Amino acid sequence: MTTTLKSYVCGAWFEGEAPARNLHNPTTGEVVAEASTNGLDMAAALAFARTHGGPALRAMTFAERGTLLELAAKAIHEEREALIDLALRNGGNTRKDAKFDIDGASGTLAFYGRLGQKLGDGKFLLDGGETRLSRNPRYVGRHIRVPLTGCAVHINAFNFPAWGTCEKLAVSILAGVPVVSKPATSTAVVAARIAELFVAAEIFPAGAFSTIMGSVGDLLDHLTAQDVVAFTGSSDTARAIAGHPTVLAHNVRVNLEADSVNAAVLGSDAEPGSPTWDLFIREVAVDMTQKAGQKCTAIRRVFVPRDLLDDVRTDLSEELDRSATGDPGDKATTVGPLATASQLRDICAGIDRLRSVATVAYGDGKALERDGYFVAPTLLEVADGHAADAVHAHEVFGPVATLIPFDGTAADAVALVQRGDGGLVASVYSDDAAFLSEMIFGIAPFHGRIHVANKKVAEHSPGPGTVLPQMQHGGPGRAGGGAELGGLRGLEFYTQRTAVQGLSPLLDKLFVDGVEA
Ligand code: NAP
Repeated sequence: MTTTLKSYVCGAWFEGEAPARNLHNPTTGEVVAEASTNGLDMAAALAFARTHGGPALRAMTFAERGTLLELAAKAIHEEREALIDLALRNGGNTRKDAKFDIDGASGTLAFYGRLGQKLGDGKFLLDGGETRLSRNPRYVGRHIRVPLTGCAVHINAFNFPAWGTCEKLAVSILAGVPVVSKPATSTAVVAARIAELFVAAEIFPAGAFSTIMGSVGDLLDHLTAQDVVAFTGSSDTARAIAGHPTVLAHNVRVNLEADSVNAAVLGSDAEPGSPTWDLFIREVAVDMTQKAGQKCTAIRRVFVPRDLLDDVRTDLSEELDRSATGDPGDKATTVGPLATASQLRDICAGIDRLRSVATVAYGDGKALERDGYFVAPTLLEVADGHAADAVHAHEVFGPVATLIPFDGTAADAVALVQRGDGGLVASVYSDDAAFLSEMIFGIAPFHGRIHVANKKVAEHSPGPGTVLPQMQHGGPGRAGGGAELGGLRGLEFYTQRTAVQGLSPLLDKLFVDGVEA
C-alpha cells in the first residue's frame, strides 16, 4: 500500500494535490509512498512560524528550549526500531546504517538539550564582557546575540533523513528560532514519521516546528531578511539557493553544506600491520561501505606514499572483501543499495568520469544486475595525482574512493589535498609529529575539520565520517562555505550579534536574561 506523506504547516496536517512524486524502496524499486506540496500556501506556512513559533520560543529560557529537545530525542529513541524499518524500506539502509542516522538524530537533540540546561534561565547570549568606551568608566559597550525574529528554512539531502532534520532543528530551536524543515523528497518517509512523533507528543509550541513533504515550490520567494536558509545537498542546488532573487534582494542569511572530495593521508612512517596502518585501512573501508558511501564526510581521495601503494592496495582490498553488497534486510549485508535510481545513474557516470584518469584497483564500478539500485565498493587508482584533475573535482556519492600516490613528503601531500578546493573533513594517519604539524597547518585553511589518527587513539576513533555535535560541520570552497553544529558556535547562524553602548549599570539591568556564551 502506498502511503501519502503529509506536510505539517500552520499547526495542521496538509495533503498536497496531485500529481504527487513517488518514493521508492531502493532494494526493489517498488513505490512505497508519495508526496506533493501542490496547493500548499508556502507564504502562510512561513508567516505562521514567524508569528506563533518565534514569539513562543523567544519567551522560553534556554533550559526550557533544551527540555523540548530532550523530549524530541526521547520521542525518536522510543520509536527507534520502527524508524530503522522505515529507513530500510525507503532509504535502503542496513540496520547499522539506519542506526547511524537515527541515533545520530536523537544524540544530537539530546546534546543540545543538555547544552540548554547548562545555559539555564538565560534567554539570549552575552558575547564577551564590557568594554570601556570613554573617559567616563561607566560608559561601556557590550555585544549580545539575540534570536532572529523570522524562521529557519531547513532544506536537507536524501542521505540522512533523521540526522539531517534533527541536527539543524536542535540548534535552531535552542537559539529560539522556529523551523520549517524540508527533507529531500526521495527518502522522506523517516523524516515524515519523526514529524508525526513530534506532533503527536505535542513537543513544540504551535509554529515552532513545521515540515514540508515534497517540492520546495515557491517557498524561497517569501523569505524576509529575518529568515535564514540552512541547506545541505548538491552544489548545483546550493548555487540556485544562494542566487535566488529573493535571497539576494533581502540578503537572507544562507548556510550551505555541499559536495566535498574528502581526503585521507597516510604518513610514510606508518608500517604495514601497525595500529596506525590498520586504523587507516579500517576507516577508509568503513567510509567506502557505510551507507553505501552516501555520506558527505566519506573519504573519497586516499593519499598514500608511493612506496606503500602496493601494500595499501592489498590490505584495503582484503578489508573490502569482508563487505557484502545486497538486500539490506539480510543480516550478512554490509552495503545496501543507493537511495534512488538517479543516484545509481550518477554514480555509474561518475565512476566512468574518474576512469578517464584512473584504473580500477578493486571492484568493477558497474551497477549490479538485479532489481534495485546497487553498486558494489569500487576502488580506483591514479598513477599521477597532480595530473588527475577529475579525481580532485568530482565527488562520486557512492561506495567509491581513489588511491593517489604522493612522494612521501608532507609538502607533496598538502599540495595534492589542496586540489580538492575546500572540504568538510580531511584525515591524517601518522605518528610523526613533524609530518602531522606540516599537514595540519598546510590543509587547515581548506577544511572545516581535521581528523588526526594514530596508534594512541586507534581504539577510540569514531572515524572522520562521524559528525559530532561538539565539533563544527562544514567547510570552505567546494564544501559550500558553511558551518553547522560545533556546540554553541552553531547558534551564531540563527542569532544577530548586536553591539550595545550605554551606561554600565543600566546595561547590567537590561541584560539580566543574558547568559555568557
Ligand atoms: P539535491 O538534489 O541538491 O537536493 C537537496 C535538497 O534540495 C532536497 O531537499 C531537494 O528537494 C532540495 N531542492 C532541490 N532543488 C531545489 C531548489 N531549486 N531550491 C531549493 N531546494 C531545492 O542534493 P541530494 O541529491 O539530496 O544530495 C546529494 C548531495 O548532497 C551530494 O552531492 C552530497 O555531497 C551533498 N551532501 C552534503 C552534505 C554536507 O553536509 N555538506 C551532507 C549530505 C549530502 P527535493 O528532494 O524535493 O528535490
